[in-house]
Amino acid sequence: MTKTTIHRVGIGTDLHRLADGRRLILGHVLIDPDRGAIGHSDGDVVLHAIIDALAGAAALPDIGEMFPDTDPAYRDADSAVLLSRALAVVAERGLRVVNVDVTIHLERPKLMPHKVAIRDEVARLLALAPDEVSIKAKTNEGVDAVGRGEAVACTAVVGLRWDAVEPAG
Ligand code: MG
Repeated sequence: MTKTTIHRVGIGTDLHRLADGRRLILGHVLIDPDRGAIGHSDGDVVLHAIIDALAGAAALPDIGEMFPDTDPAYRDADSAVLLSRALAVVAERGLRVVNVDVTIHLERPKLMPHKVAIRDEVARLLALAPDEVSIKAKTNEGVDAVGRGEAVACTAVVGLRWDAVEPAG
């Protein structure tokens, strides 16, 4: 019997505009109840970037194709539900998540006090151990839309593995 392991990597990015009167949710954690992302769904850039990274690693249609923002079903959708659907498709293909590496780009509030909560929640949603999830945060040094506090963005990389056991001969 031969065991073959194939590793795949995917990248995803997302950006949403910020506005007063919206909730800022990052990695399914409420960060700011008064100023947050404008979006058809809950505007969670972390989960959206992870979904696109999963899609990339598994060569699935991107988040916009899987969950069209013209579909009323996804209005104010909980992005954790979208993530679980994307994960189910990945699992159907025999792929499983190995690790996730996330960078959040946000000028304020500072995310340092929230990083552990975001990491733990993302790990829970992906059925990973906390040390298989990295949550990094950085400002944009006052430059561009993120730097001016007009937007929040996220970059995510996901590693998947596929284990195949083939009979000898
Ligand atoms: Mg989005």
